Amino acid sequence: MAERIIPLVDQRLKALQPTIPARAVSPTGLLGDGLGRPLRDLRISVTDRCNFRCNYCMPKEVFNADYPYLPHSALLSFEEITRLAHLFVGHGVKKLRLTGGEPLLRKNLEILVAQLAQLRTPEGTPLDLTLTTNGALLARKAQALKDAGLNRVTVSLDGLDDAVFRRMNDVDFPVAEVLEGIDAARAVGLGADAQGRPSGIKINMVVKRTTNVEQILPMARHFRGTGMTLRFIEYMDVGSTNGWCMDDVLPSADVIRLLQTEFPMVPLEPSAPGETAQRWGYANAQGVHDPALGEVGVISSVTQAFCQDCNRARLSTEGKLYLCLFATQGYDLRELLRNGTSDADLSSAIAHIWQGRQDRYSELRGQGLLDTPSDGAGRKVEMSYIGG
Ligand code: SAM
Ligand code: SF4
Ligand code: SF4
Repeated sequence: MAERIIPLVDQRLKALQPTIPARAVSPTGLLGDGLGRPLRDLRISVTDRCNFRCNYCMPKEVFNADYPYLPHSALLSFEEITRLAHLFVGHGVKKLRLTGGEPLLRKNLEILVAQLAQLRTPEGTPLDLTLTTNGALLARKAQALKDAGLNRVTVSLDGLDDAVFRRMNDVDFPVAEVLEGIDAARAVGLGADAQGRPSGIKINMVVKRTTNVEQILPMARHFRGTGMTLRFIEYMDVGSTNGWCMDDVLPSADVIRLLQTEFPMVPLEPSAPGETAQRWGYANAQGVHDPALGEVGVISSVTQAFCQDCNRARLSTEGKLYLCLFATQGYDLRELLRNGTSDADLSSAIAHIWQGRQDRYSELRGQGLLDTPSDGAGRKVEMSYIGG
């Protein structure tokens, strides 16, 4: 078995202190970062704990009984999350995604969903409110989440073969229960956009060359024509504990080539600016996309960086704002939340941070401009801490 690198420095302890700019930055919804990218998508991690131990994310050897998970008092409360989300929306955020860790482990999550569902953009439209889950608790929670106002779920599923799936989650969890969760989510209508129009549940499959490549075609067969969109994600060098190496990455181009051995497929236009997935549609006998058969997405985070359109910010479980999945440090917003800072100052501080953003890690790595898998300055934070 490959040697694991155990992080010696806990990245969560380091934080950047946000500054409140002397000149207030008003929430015009038009904020741009240092490279002109807008702020549209906020990913909120609601817990750093998980009931799975996917070895590309929370390897058992590191995330064991001795791992120092955050104490409850360190987590942002639902009120704190909602207050921050409201301020982010003022600066242009249109989509909120709850993640983790496993977000469905956070007690009473539907109360947070109900609070976030009340938020409106400055134009008065509801937000796109979504959640990414491993699906283990979805069958139990789907109805309550829907009732609370959640629009959509993305379910992570790395294979259909029970033995492969149990090995990948590394806690012997059966695939049948995740499939039941997906059925429950469909049955209650957790596949809609912000306006309530059907947009389909998304299924995310991380492809690791050594583990689940042979699951690609069975997954495609299973989800084709169901109205659900299967998305293949390149295994990424996030965090510092998963022992990532390039040999484990199957490039998206190879995934598409493999799919084309069985299904005719045609490239589709992006459905929104800043969309992370490239879309491919299943084609009919005439070689034309057949919407009834649906589509797949490929997320080529390693082989084809999409930093130039990256409009995502990430809020960690304890309220640090990260500007990139590969960042080594976040800005401590919790300190401002808890020291009596006014909404106007907090909002200006958020804007100031975004305006200074220059991050484009994958692009630089792709151009060979990074010496080490991180930026050389330190270890990257774990995906389970800032959310995917
Ligand atoms: N526990 C939830 C789940 O698995 O859906 C939400 C959090 S998880 C960190 C979010 C997403 O990140 C999942 O789709 C997961 O597969 C993906 N992910 C985690 N580690 C990854 C890695 N090293 N490369 C690519 N995707 C990864
Ligand atoms: Fe848990 Fe999701 Fe990470 Fe798997 S990918 S260990 S389910 S947080
Ligand atoms: Fe965005 Fe960072 Fe990923 Fe580039 S590497 S797409 S900036 S999160």
